Amino acid sequence: MRQELDSDLGIKIGLEVHCQITSLRTKLFCSCPSNYRDYEPNSVICEICMGLPGSLPRLNAKVIESALKIALALNCEIPPVTNFFRKNYFYPDTPKNFQITQYDKAGGVPIAHNGFLDSWQGRVRIRRIQIEEDPGKLSYDGNIVTSPYALVDYNRAGIALTEIVTEPDLKNPRHAREFLFKLRSILEHIGVSDGSLEGAIRADANISLAGGKRVEIKNVSSFKEVDRALNFEITRQKRLPGGVMETRHWDEVRRVTVTLRVKEEEEGYRYFPEPDLSPVTVSRDLIDRLKAIMPELPDQRRARFVNEFKVSDEVAKIITSEKAMADFFEEVILLQYSPKIIGGWLAVDIPGYLKRRGLDFKEIGINPSHLAELAKELADGKINDNVAKSILMKILPVGESPRKYLEIENEMDEPSLREIVTRVFARNSGAVEEARHDPRVIDFLIGQGMKETRGRADHALLRKLISEKLSQESRSNQPKP
Ligand SMILES: [Zn+2]
Repeated sequence: MRQELDSDLGIKIGLEVHCQITSLRTKLFCSCPSNYRDYEPNSVICEICMGLPGSLPRLNAKVIESALKIALALNCEIPPVTNFFRKNYFYPDTPKNFQITQYDKAGGVPIAHNGFLDSWQGRVRIRRIQIEEDPGKLSYDGNIVTSPYALVDYNRAGIALTEIVTEPDLKNPRHAREFLFKLRSILEHIGVSDGSLEGAIRADANISLAGGKRVEIKNVSSFKEVDRALNFEITRQKRLPGGVMETRHWDEVRRVTVTLRVKEEEEGYRYFPEPDLSPVTVSRDLIDRLKAIMPELPDQRRARFVNEFKVSDEVAKIITSEKAMADFFEEVILLQYSPKIIGGWLAVDIPGYLKRRGLDFKEIGINPSHLAELAKELADGKINDNVAKSILMKILPVGESPRKYLEIENEMDEPSLREIVTRVFARNSGAVEEARHDPRVIDFLIGQGMKETRGRADHALLRKLISEKLSQESRSNQPKP
């Protein structure tokens, strides 16, 4: 139903995803360190990233390899020569008043173009991938519209970025979110970008409804916010059909978009070839060498999980949507080969827990051996599924071994359950009498036993003990000959 509605509206969504190449040690054109988050504001800057007169940029050659790996993973065409352009604009986040980037017109050739990424809702074409420098970071008091000032930190200025631009092939906000997660998992598998670092992967979205103008949404901080901002825009554009071509800001606090500027034309940026950097030749040899060392990507890994571990495709899809989770899964399997049990926890129970707490997978406290220990108890039949899950929920927040909880559970062995059955019989003598004639009442007694053990008893064992006790007692109650 939802799908039909979306297609009726003629929604077209395109994304521009900025990914910092966090695997590099230095910035794109200078030797300032790339781990700028670890420093005081405006302390890791130099004459090159500040664009002081007389300074010259020098390309960090490693960025080319990283961008090419992304291009290969996204099935792009790679031109033999690529070059840099200047995008001129006056804004406080750019100390040079221009940004060194790439361009696809006027003789500009980006590092890659014409690729695609397959998602569950269909193929998404990649228009181009370009290399560029990150601007500085602006912070506001509250929000961009009402803040009386802006603070600027240039530590981020000059950090290497790739911008991945899609065609408007995304059909709805959920599709956009799914695409972003898949892209992030790919970047993590290639090892170029760590998506868990604040601001390492950021997206601008553009959206239009049939017959309406294209609106660009900027400053969206997370994938969840992309979803929210797009949904807001769909509602807004439905109410105000037509509209103007403009750039809007997503106000995360009020959850609305507000006009930033009516869209500037590209000519406004006065793009021209960067005179301080020569074009870069991308040899066939380099591409072949990179192809040979490409790591396993999420789709391949997902297929392998299904084949090798016999988990469902849905489970494999969820686990490989994050590299950290897929790695964790394989580490647990090595310790305790129970893929179905562990896959279920990782695909269903743990994401549910993380979502409730607003946490990232990387923030879970437990390590693979903790999960392996718990899975072994369940696989060996020492505890049941419910007990295992309740222990899982106890160890997740504290990040400790399940041993302590398992020891408590082990007290629920046969002798202690017998004692509980005795107690249940003593407290429910009426029901016990009835159960002798009506087997359905046994279920009531089992229910009482489960209550006593707070659900920790093995259901089948409890039934067996209750039935045994009933028949024993009826035998001993028979009149002696
Ligand atoms: Zn620098």
